[in-house]
Amino acid sequence: MDLCIQGAEIWPLDGGAPREASVWVRGDRIAAVGAAPGPVRAERTISAPGLICLPGLVNCHNHVAMTLLRGYGADLDLQHWLEERIWPAEARLTDRDVEIGALLGCLEMLRGGTTAFADMYDHMDAVAAAVDHSGIRASLARGVIGLSPGWQRSMAEAEDLCRKAPRLAAGRITAMVAPHAEYTCPPEVWREAVGLARRQGVRLHTHLSETTAENAACRARHGCSPAAFLESVGALDVGVLCAHAVHVDVADAARLARTGVAVAHNPVSNAKLGSGIAPIDLLLDSGVRLGLGTDGAASTDTLSLWKEMSTAGYLQKAVSQDAAALPCGRLLTMATRDGSAALGLDPLAGSLVPGAPADFILIDPHGLHRSPATDPDAALVYGTRDTDVVLTVVAGRVVMERGAFPGIDHERVRAEAVAASRRLLGGG
Ligand SMILES: [Zn+2]
Repeated sequence: MDLCIQGAEIWPLDGGAPREASVWVRGDRIAAVGAAPGPVRAERTISAPGLICLPGLVNCHNHVAMTLLRGYGADLDLQHWLEERIWPAEARLTDRDVEIGALLGCLEMLRGGTTAFADMYDHMDAVAAAVDHSGIRASLARGVIGLSPGWQRSMAEAEDLCRKAPRLAAGRITAMVAPHAEYTCPPEVWREAVGLARRQGVRLHTHLSETTAENAACRARHGCSPAAFLESVGALDVGVLCAHAVHVDVADAARLARTGVAVAHNPVSNAKLGSGIAPIDLLLDSGVRLGLGTDGAASTDTLSLWKEMSTAGYLQKAVSQDAAALPCGRLLTMATRDGSAALGLDPLAGSLVPGAPADFILIDPHGLHRSPATDPDAALVYGTRDTDVVLTVVAGRVVMERGAFPGIDHERVRAEAVAASRRLLGGG
């Protein structure tokens, strides 16, 4: 046996009381949860009484290298923010910029207990190198802007990424195809992306109905909602991960549910850019699969899924005037098991059971800010901070322990990323 987490509080995602048990890891899988499977010893044993053990968190929508643009262009709406700040800065990014920005983002996510993420961006070889280096798991997609003259090259790079993904980062990388959105990709680009996804047997990752302006423009262009447009070009038949779905109606929600679309809910980014609040109750009632995402750090500031969990809960309760909306248990499953399913990871991913990928975290529940935990589930969802995570394990390997990353000097990564950001934004 390679690793034993001894005597942790195994947290049930479906309610019920936590139970004290040990987690045994062999290779990249969980071998047993409970007593030792026979008279065995582990190479390494970590004593964990009183620490909470959860499956790793899954960030379903990110542009991880955007850490270099963290918080850039605050107080602008989506269209002005993209056109005046983000796209001009992104046009200057080099491979090395993207790699260092992505590495910073991967380490930030591991620090807070995120073990897998879905990414859409340019320079994906550089993002894959950061994933490999950091030890995190990822589903990567080369973004395709169909209105840009180089879209065919982007599509070829997307296909190349699909082909080589299984050989990258010791099997921790999978691929998707990412037509950026309805408003940036004409129908012929969508049809090509659908064909590519079908050929490679992968899903699509896109942005959907983020703002009311996007919906209005789509209706003017195509006479239908963005979700109906995706259906008309065959996109919903190949499996889709949609970010946002802020402005979807009953018919759209039924359409997404019928076709098995997964939605990445990004409440902080949607709120900060003034885009709105996604109708989570409608999506859940319709049977749409939901995960949580941060979106890029330019619009969400921190890549914390704890912040997304609590914000999702606060906003749904407020907007529906119903304190029972989006309860703690649902937020926890969205952040773990359902997020794993949205990324198409191993069917057992997101569960602490024998045979599941060994992706899990330990949380110290004794911080001043979450004591006493009069309601343990609420303390976990609304009280936990990234810095309460004391151990992150991905594919059986300890990749973060008490704020340190084995084999990686995170202060050096941070300094290099700050220097790259300054160069990029003209700050010296
Ligand atoms: Zn996005």
